[in-house]
Amino acid sequence: MAFKPANNIQDLQYFGEFGGINPSISDATTFTFMSAKTMSDTFEGNSDGCHLYARHTTPSNLYLGEALAAMEATKTANVFGSGMGAITAVLMQLCGAGDHVVSSRTIYGGTYAFLKNFTPKLNIQTSFVDITKLAVVEAAITPHTKVLYCESVSNPLLEVADIEGLSELAKKHNLQLVVDNTFSPLSISPKTLGADIVIHSLTKFINGSSDTVGGVVCGTQEMIDRLRSVIDGAGMLFGSTMDSRVSASILKNLRTLHIRIKQHSANALYLAERFEKDGLKTVYPGLESHPSHLIFKQMMHSEYGFGGMMTIDAGSLEKANALMELMQKENLGYLAVSLGFHKTLFSAPGSSTSSEIPEDEQKEMGLGEGLIRFSIGLDNDIERTYQKMKACMKTVGILS
Ligand code: PLP
Repeated sequence: MAFKPANNIQDLQYFGEFGGINPSISDATTFTFMSAKTMSDTFEGNSDGCHLYARHTTPSNLYLGEALAAMEATKTANVFGSGMGAITAVLMQLCGAGDHVVSSRTIYGGTYAFLKNFTPKLNIQTSFVDITKLAVVEAAITPHTKVLYCESVSNPLLEVADIEGLSELAKKHNLQLVVDNTFSPLSISPKTLGADIVIHSLTKFINGSSDTVGGVVCGTQEMIDRLRSVIDGAGMLFGSTMDSRVSASILKNLRTLHIRIKQHSANALYLAERFEKDGLKTVYPGLESHPSHLIFKQMMHSEYGFGGMMTIDAGSLEKANALMELMQKENLGYLAVSLGFHKTLFSAPGSSTSSEIPEDEQKEMGLGEGLIRFSIGLDNDIERTYQKMKACMKTVGILS
């Protein structure tokens, strides 16, 4: 039977110790052992089912990790205190001095800054490439390359990675293909397409209420054990730990992800189709005009659509700012970074979430200063939203 990510989440059952229909939240940072021998075995990573210390594992964190692994079709997963906590831990686990990364040039600004500015201090170099051109990606691989890094749908330009094609390259050159799937949970399952490691910022769609920060790494048992190792595990040693109260909260929100993603996607497609017809430069993977529309279609679980992220080009930063301020005034959404909220969120990435990327590089990758990134909300009446947004666009002179 075809892989159904939301079914896999739904089929998991957890109970509290008194039969509660939600698992109890682990209210402890340390755990007792019946014997000293079990404690030392646990330190050596040899004692299944035992918890040591909350920076290592907690029952609540394991429940959430198990649910996310089920969603991503990986053997297991480890949750982190943030998306960046997950990303930095994976990259530092896989790379050491002298190693090289080939990364998409359009990725979240924080990840870009980490690879561009931080890892060179450790003598880890990165080549940033157009990830949609497999020949260009392959040409950037050197004998020192360890990791091929991309986002399934990139922040903020919404470029789509051909994960199967990249996976073939990764296998051919013995690299780990690491995919950040934050923009397309449920719609795309990178592991089933050949990714080795799948990462999410849980702060976004997966939690969906913009009230907690979190991240996850989904992968093989071996990789997750490496991250958790008390000897040299980046997950354990960097300390980007998720609090059990946060993981319990995210687990509850995860259960409605399938419903939310369908609505985010339907609303985004509705707006993107209309804005494009109105003559606005609109980028949305669900539009036939998107250069990777067919690749997304081949990869996707169609019931979840093309996701909730779209961009329009307002032509200039002044117009973009005027439009965003007016839309906020009209209660159409919030001028805010981040994504995956019930309200529409919008920002101009060139001067916010991607401002870490130097201006000349922004230009080269097609990130214009008038670009507005939208995370489309769960609006019940999207036609009304469209009419009100169009009126705002006319007021600020983006549409005539
Ligand atoms: N990955 C993507 C695609 C993102 O958009 C973000 C944040 O915006 C992150 C990772 C980082 O996640 P966090 O803010 O949870 O550290």
